This record gives sequence, C-alpha cells and structure tokens, in this order.
Amino acid sequence: MPQAMRIPRRLLLAAAALPAAALAKQAPRPVERAPVPLVMLDPGHGGKDPGAIGYSGTYEKHVAFAAAEELRRQLNASGRCRVELTRERDIFIPLADRVGIAQGRGAALLVSMHADALTDTEVRGASVYTLSDTASDPQTAALARRENSADRFGGPAFQNVSPTVASILASLVRQETRVGSARMARAVVGALEPEIGLLPNPARHAGFMVLRAADIPSVLVEMGFMSNYRDEAALRRPEYRARVAAALRRAVEGFLAANRAAGVAAG
Ligand code: ZN
Repeated sequence: MPQAMRIPRRLLLAAAALPAAALAKQAPRPVERAPVPLVMLDPGHGGKDPGAIGYSGTYEKHVAFAAAEELRRQLNASGRCRVELTRERDIFIPLADRVGIAQGRGAALLVSMHADALTDTEVRGASVYTLSDTASDPQTAALARRENSADRFGGPAFQNVSPTVASILASLVRQETRVGSARMARAVVGALEPEIGLLPNPARHAGFMVLRAADIPSVLVEMGFMSNYRDEAALRRPEYRARVAAALRRAVEGFLAANRAAGVAAG
C-alpha cells in the first residue's frame, strides 16, 4: 500500500493558486501555538538483526540503542521538541515499518542511528547519509546495500519504493523533503566536526531504504565504524556517546529552529 503523504498546508495553498494577498485579507486567526515538533530517532537494527559485529564483538544494535536513548535524554532535557524511538526494546523492525512509524506519528524529522562495518577495517570516523537514487561513492553504495539487507532477517520487502502518486504536489513535497534532509545533513556535519573524527567528504548519499519517507526529512548517521577497533572502543564508552549525542542535539535543534523561522516567513 502506498505510504500516506502529509501535505504541508502552504503547499496545498500554493497548489490551489491562492494568492498570498488573499490570505492576508482573511480575518486574523486566533494566535495558534505551534505544535512542538516530533523527532523520531531510529536506533538501527535490533532483535535477530545485530547489525555490524564489532572488532571485539560489540553489536551495533546495542550501541545504536544506547546512543539514541542518550540523545533522547538530552533533547528532552532542553525541551524544544518531543522525541520518540522507533524501537524501545531489542526487537526487529523491518525498514519499511520504521518509515511507517515516523509517518504515522507525524514526525518532523527522522534520524536513523548506526555504527556499521566496512570491509576496510582502517576506515573510521562519523558520517551522515541522505537518500539518493545513485550513490555518492562505491563505499557508500556498499554501505547502503548492507543497511538495506537488514530485511533479510524477515518482514515484508519494501513495497512501492517509487511513489505511485505522480502529481506535482507530491513532487513538491519530495523536493522540500530533499532540501530539508540535505540541510539536516549539513547541520550534523557542522555539529560533529569539532567534536569527533569524520570521514573525508562526510556528507554522502545512496539508496537507503530507511530514508525513503517522501514527506519527512531523514538522515542516517554513522557514528563511527564497528569494524575499526578504535571507533568500536570509543562507541562502547558512555562519555563518548554523550559527546556524539550532544552534537546531534545541537544539529536537531538548529534544524528545527530554522524550520520554525521558515514557517513564520511563509505565513
Ligand atoms: Zn547499521
């Protein structure tokens, strides 16, 4: 079944070719308090899918969950958004369902959190990924294949990856989502850069299934690579995860603040 799409109100108005002046002539609306945006954190893998298995045996699913919990704690402490996790326990959730959870809950942003493995055990550092039909580089293409293969553990294959609604409206929403995802990726790189080591060209893209929500800006953060023993050792430490989470909190809040400002400008 195609994913339901949430159409931002201002796009609906644009589609109806309602001039902005007409809006201005309407009676003033009562002051509406903007709803507190929901951020969906998606700890990668879980249950029968351990994710990457680290150099010394650490499971990616545990690191991803611990980091997501820490980020939720920090975001809740500053109170500028609501936060939910796609999984609260060590359970397997198919990739399409993770997207569906974010859409069903009306998330303003999806951050999928990982610490994967590469065949090259020397590679280390954080990186952030957005959705694209073509991969930015072979390493990222391989990473996306590995991520997308999570569904081999069960669950339905991702259906209808290409939206069937070929309307201008849908494409406007997708374009806005792409722009939002790229903006969030830049915010993540900017926040992580002074804190921890990054891959060269740390903002990359490929066909990650979990980033396919047409209407929710989505990024996948690789906090490091479990295949590198130094990254694995760092990610096992709560203090290190807290530092990563603090940087991600700044990126999330910066993203949401810019959204709010753009919302005001758009009326
Ligand atoms: Zn992963």
